[in-house]
Formats: sequence, C-alpha cells, structure tokens
Amino acid sequence: MVRIERQQGTKVMQPTIASYTADDFNTQPLMLYYEVTQACDLVCKHCRASAQEQSHPDELTTELSRALIEQAATFPRPPILVMTGGDPL
Ligand code: SF4
Repeated sequence: MVRIERQQGTKVMQPTIASYTADDFNTQPLMLYYEVTQACDLVCKHCRASAQEQSHPDELTTELSRALIEQAATFPRPPILVMTGGDPL
C-alpha cells in the first residue's frame, strides 16, 4: 500500500516501510523523481526543468505513467515518489 499526500504543491508517495539500510540501495532507489511534464504556462527563464508552453512529444501517456508508478511500487521497499515538472497538475 502506498500513501499519497501533498507537500508544498508536490504529490509525494511515501513507502510503508520507513527505514532503509545500505544494502537496500543495491536493489532499489530510496526516491524516484518523476518529471511528469516539461510543460508549464509560466515558462520562467530560471526554470530548472526548462519548461515550455507545450508538452514534449516524448512524454509518457497517462496509461504509461500509471504503469511506471505501478512498476515502481513493486520494489521490495517502494521508493518515495516525487511527481514534478513543469506543471504536473
Ligand atoms: S515549473 Fe515552476 S519554475 Fe518552471 S516555468 Fe513553471 S512555474 Fe516557472
């Protein structure tokens, strides 16, 4: 089970198992940053994501995005998922 909560406008999925050991990093990431989209209406010059007005043509479809998240959840200790962009919402 994965819990979803908001932190300062970013959705964060927290793993149900709290602590990692050094051995865990050999088999799974602690955190997964998923840049859902590069699109953002504001297109700030300082944007870390180099946001553009239009979505990048190689962005994942909704179906593939769900598949990616479901696949990440199958790690023995699912990573913390940070969904970012651009403007993912
Ligand atoms: S994602 Fe944030 S920094 Fe980037 S263009 Fe949009 S508002 Fe600006």
